[in-house]
Amino acid sequence: MTSQAPAATAPPSFGWSGEQSAFRDHVAKFARARLSADARAGLPEEAFSREMWRACAEFGVHGIPIPEMYGGAGQDAMDAVIAMEALGYECADQGLLFSINAQMWSVEMPILRFGTDEQKQRYLPGLCDGSVIGAHGMSEPDSGSDAFAMRTRAVRDGDSYRLTGSKTFVTNAPEADLFLVFATVNPKRGMWGVTAFLIDRGTPGITVGKRIEKMGLTTSPMAEVVLDDCVVPVSSMLGREGQGAAIFNHSMGWERACILGTTVGAMARQFETCLEYAKTRRQFGKAIGDFQLVASKIADMKLRLETSRMLLHKATLSQANDRDGALDGAMAKLYISDAAVQSGLDAIQIHGGYGYTREYAAERELRDAIGGRLYSGTSEIQRLLIARHLGLAPT
Ligand SMILES: Cc1cc2nc3c(=O)[nH]c(=O)nc-3n(C[C@H](O)[C@H](O)[C@H](O)COP(=O)(O)OP(=O)(O)OC[C@H]3O[C@@H](n4cnc5c(N)ncnc54)[C@H](O)[C@@H]3O)c2cc1C
Repeated sequence: MTSQAPAATAPPSFGWSGEQSAFRDHVAKFARARLSADARAGLPEEAFSREMWRACAEFGVHGIPIPEMYGGAGQDAMDAVIAMEALGYECADQGLLFSINAQMWSVEMPILRFGTDEQKQRYLPGLCDGSVIGAHGMSEPDSGSDAFAMRTRAVRDGDSYRLTGSKTFVTNAPEADLFLVFATVNPKRGMWGVTAFLIDRGTPGITVGKRIEKMGLTTSPMAEVVLDDCVVPVSSMLGREGQGAAIFNHSMGWERACILGTTVGAMARQFETCLEYAKTRRQFGKAIGDFQLVASKIADMKLRLETSRMLLHKATLSQANDRDGALDGAMAKLYISDAAVQSGLDAIQIHGGYGYTREYAAERELRDAIGGRLYSGTSEIQRLLIARHLGLAPT
């Protein structure tokens, strides 16, 4: 036995590698140059910017986690999340970023995982280069959280399926060229009847309904999608008949783990703005940040930001490595979305009356953040999922 103390094992690193940091800076530089508020000049306040969408695609954002052979950059999911954080920090148009996220995790990833080679060749290059916009249609007017209780039917007819039903809350639908929609081939089979289809815009029988206006993420277009005896060939099925629930769960795994990367970026920018405001805004002869009640809000915002970032990165790694992805994703989704709302409220409070005005970003940031508690499964559903992973059986 030696009297020498054992060498300390290297502490785990919570930072990014040099390469990852350089990539983050590269994305941030692009966003500052091409996605600033000026890039939206002349557009109505709530309009989706196809130009900014294309700029992101040309830069390579849409294809980060897609292999090069299908038009992507062949990087990993962590790189995609690093890019999303940088974009969330630099670009105020959170609606645009949400739309890109929705396509990446819920259209590109399921095609990559479950598509035939023909489907991958046909759709992924366009989704990566920005010429094709994708939408994911699962929710229906009567089935949201209980998604597999859908009414949309797919009836086999020779070499085709006939789809009838309607989807709601479909992000990107007003602009989309490609719809990944879910229908049941037999409602009695429950989740085992759910089947996924890739349907091109313009296919007879599929129409985009009324645009849905939202309180936040307003530049991300959303609409209903109606299927009225829409006939599609069997070859448009994604995966096998009855595999739709697995495909949907796969997409939700990616969304819950990664979709809030842009939110974490936005939280970082919001935190810095609030810190600066607390240092410079003076009342009663001193900086408001020197009042303990304001300083504690700043401290809590910092804590929420750092915790959110750690959960985001852990969930991304778990999802990418197929290790506890569902549990870590649910925890990340739940925590980050709640943290963003609470920090959004604190940001308004720190800015006082100015925070409540449209002159400042805080009110829009709060409206954008609230959506995070609803999409990709509500906060209540995430709590249920976490409890189920812990062996409980809550109803
Ligand atoms: C910004 C945004 C973008 C979206 N994009 C898409 C998209 O691209 N494609 C798509 O298909 N959908 C999309 N959605 C829809 C989203 O997935 C649904 O809104 C969500 O799943 C909830 O369904 P619901 O709105 O019908 O609410 P409901 O399921 O009716 O829930 C209403 C309330 O009841 C609670 N609740 C329901 N069931 C339970 C339970 N078992 N235990 C406890 N509480 C429960 C919910 O948490 C919620 O508080 C989007 C939604 C938003 C807000």
